[in-house]
Amino acid sequence: MDVLAELPKLTFYRGRVAMFQILKAIGVGPGDLVATQAYTCLAVPEGIIATGAKPLFIDVEDGGVNMCPTDLRTKLDESVRAIIVQHTFGIPAQMEQLSAIAEQNKLPIIEDCCHTFASKFANQLVGTFGVGSFYSFEWGKPLVAGVGGSAILNDDHLKSIVEKKWRECAEPSRLRVLKVQLQYLAFSRMYNPSRYWKIRSLFQRLSQIGAAEGNYNPMDEISSDFDLRMATPLRKRLKVLVTSAQETVIRSKSIANQYKTLITNPDCVPPKVPLDSDSVFARYPLFVEDKPKVLALAEESKIEIADWYKTPIHPLSQEDWPKIGYEKSSCPRAEVLSGRLISLPVNQKVKQGYIEQISQFLNGLRS
Ligand SMILES: *Cc1c(COP(=O)(O)O)cnc(C)c1O
Repeated sequence: MDVLAELPKLTFYRGRVAMFQILKAIGVGPGDLVATQAYTCLAVPEGIIATGAKPLFIDVEDGGVNMCPTDLRTKLDESVRAIIVQHTFGIPAQMEQLSAIAEQNKLPIIEDCCHTFASKFANQLVGTFGVGSFYSFEWGKPLVAGVGGSAILNDDHLKSIVEKKWRECAEPSRLRVLKVQLQYLAFSRMYNPSRYWKIRSLFQRLSQIGAAEGNYNPMDEISSDFDLRMATPLRKRLKVLVTSAQETVIRSKSIANQYKTLITNPDCVPPKVPLDSDSVFARYPLFVEDKPKVLALAEESKIEIADWYKTPIHPLSQEDWPKIGYEKSSCPRAEVLSGRLISLPVNQKVKQGYIEQISQFLNGLRS
């Protein structure tokens, strides 16, 4: 399948909306559970809850960042209607084992490809294992178009349902499109990795007062975004972006390979990846000993290091976990992971000197 050609077709307001539409097409609704990994962002449970179903959180693998097949097998019950498999940071999940479990239980897999459109598991492209996959195009994702997402269906019946829904979806309001466009413009002009911390705090302040389109909706109401498409001008931008997507992939791989060679501090450890897999990273992940300290020093030194996911359901803090049905200690490895994992940028604006600067910074943390 030509993923790049498909990406600008079934576009929705956000990645979570694309996921929601796939779940609805499968028939997921009230009374159902959808299995999804902890160590994810709020967008995923938000999209599940919008269908009327509830998330069932599965822990990550030991030493890895993706869904643990054993924990999935243990937690599955007859209320589960679908499994969302996330390829976190672009590292492919254990598709062979997860697909076998899904097949035994006659459950559809939907792949969360928001972090990668190009990684491979056993030489097969992510997004082609399940009945469908979804993608996101906001800041921080491999292709940045502003705000938006898309769905790709590998099943003709589901595809026709989602296509019909897509035709029924509305465009976002002009005011909203304008806001997102201004945000995109400001972001693409201002961003370079040494300004990361500054832009991040600016964005947080602006979205708090509603002047920027924030990433998360209030949890007390179901948002009306779930029947919106991606705005036409943003979709056009995406069409252009996919034509140079191969360059994005090459750059991301080259930067990740350099981090791998240059970061020699034994306290900075990359997560486990499946054998026979090829990761195209959205960001380059590393375990560190003292995450709060690393982040504080990085901000001081203007080094772009991201904290996500800082909780098992980013960015929810513990008192809000019950709102989305996450029970403390139900995914202990994901809880530890969120306290230890950092990630480095691999985008086109990361220049040679900066790769070395980040690497030296991390090597200098040696205790
Ligand atoms: C960004 C992201 C989403 C949701 O994308 P939106 O476009 O913000 O809805 C879902 N899953 C993962 C893993 C993501 O990183």
